[in-house]
Amino acid sequence: MQTSDVDSRLLLGPGPSPVSERVLRALAHPTVGHLDPQFLELMDDVGTRLRRVFGTDNRLTFPISATGSAGMEASLANVIEPGDEVLVGVNGVFGGRLAEMARRMGARVATVEAEWGRIVPEEAVIEAVRARPGTRVVALVHAETSTGVLQPLGDVGRFLRETPTLLVVDAVTSLGGVPVDVDATGIDVCYSGTQKCLGVPPGLAPITFSEKALRRIEGRSAPCQSWYLDVGLIAGYLGQERRYHHTAPINMLYALHEGLRIVDEEGLEARYARHARVGRALQSALIDRGFTLFAQEGHRLPQLTAALLPDGLEEGPLRNELLHRFGIEIGGGLGPAKGKLWRVGLMGAGATDASVDTLLAAVDQLLTAAVRA
Ligand SMILES: *Cc1c(COP(=O)(O)O)cnc(C)c1O
Repeated sequence: MQTSDVDSRLLLGPGPSPVSERVLRALAHPTVGHLDPQFLELMDDVGTRLRRVFGTDNRLTFPISATGSAGMEASLANVIEPGDEVLVGVNGVFGGRLAEMARRMGARVATVEAEWGRIVPEEAVIEAVRARPGTRVVALVHAETSTGVLQPLGDVGRFLRETPTLLVVDAVTSLGGVPVDVDATGIDVCYSGTQKCLGVPPGLAPITFSEKALRRIEGRSAPCQSWYLDVGLIAGYLGQERRYHHTAPINMLYALHEGLRIVDEEGLEARYARHARVGRALQSALIDRGFTLFAQEGHRLPQLTAALLPDGLEEGPLRNELLHRFGIEIGGGLGPAKGKLWRVGLMGAGATDASVDTLLAAVDQLLTAAVRA
């Protein structure tokens, strides 16, 4: 077996998303040192471009050298101290993961739960903070990839802005696909991943910290429990000193830089409109074919569609055929949704009319065969 034996696929699952030729070429550019002045210049430009897509002026905005889950871990590990009261909204896998990480960090975790497929009501979050005024951190998932729900954040952001509580937001699937608007929303720590709507391979987790979050970090009574993810130490490399902390994954940063250049060339508004248009097209075509959308109406992500199959159809075998006969990868359900639904991602370079057409043509063949059988 060698790499060239791996078949190429049309990646329409919950991530990774398709990677363009331009990004792949950037990845293959010769490696330089992580203290090379030209590389440092590229890093600074990555920061500038990330600020634009996050919608923030936060100076501490950079990619963590690991996948989205490390962004989650870095967000929590830097602002949480053992014994802190933390509130997490849980309506799917990723809210559950946030709560689990916070618990492992010694936080006293409370959750506001909602049924999978529904938003976490903002009033319920605000009520829960009022009931526990010592809450140090509220964590919410903006785009819940396990269910296809887009979580509203505006009311919670406005409320927390006037309190000492920090708002941490998971934007792994939202960044680059729908507006995130960190500063306007009042988000204090926001993290993402490269392999969803940014169209870059998995391996980096863009992250940003507000001044309020940095004051919290400076005021810690003990250092961040993770050495690798300690943003105080990482800031020493990003800042004027350029102090060695860990070796930046050079080629992945080339890839992210190229991915962000593509985002800027397209323009954020055009990019959001493209995701919205193709997502809507897929969702109405699935409804026409007897699928039921899993996410609550009015709060559906365009870039991730979770859909229950028409009655009598088994999701696993059909999804397998999509992969092996048609070369199309989509996702199945997680947790309580396992075995019940499909999760289709139209993210980044995969969010095109051609993706929708290719997928629907294959689905139609499979459904016709299944009905006949
Ligand atoms: C994919 C995803 C993650 C985890 O990212 P990895 O790159 O798989 O570590 C976290 N949160 C959400 C909402 C995701 O969709």
